[in-house]
Amino acid sequence: MTKLTLALVAHDAKKDDMARFVAMHEDALRPFTLFATGTTGGRVMEKCPSLSVTRLKSGPLGGDQQIGAMIAEGKIDALFFFVDPLSPHPHDVDVKALMRLALVYDIPMALNPATAERLISTFKD
Ligand code: PGA
Repeated sequence: MTKLTLALVAHDAKKDDMARFVAMHEDALRPFTLFATGTTGGRVMEKCPSLSVTRLKSGPLGGDQQIGAMIAEGKIDALFFFVDPLSPHPHDVDVKALMRLALVYDIPMALNPATAERLISTFKD
């Protein structure tokens, strides 16, 4: 099986959910090449020190755009982006741009743990 590349991004209020989600699926995620925005990646690695995660810049400092660029280059197979719908985000334009590119390039995109849960089960096949 080719090694799939997964990008992880979580807004501040969702970082616990992301770290918990990754910990719960650590074995399933181990075969993936993992990229994450800076803070999300830090939290995930804290919780799952044995996972190898390449950390990009923090989302508001360009990390969302770095992942968007990787999507445009065909380097990301799926995006898990746990979005906080209840807080304003100063980098909302970057958030929208990232989601937009995931749509343009038609990659699987989970915006909450419930969807990520279902998506991950399809990768196990
Ligand atoms: P962060 O970025 O993981 O560096 O906090 C995520 C985001 O776009 O808010």
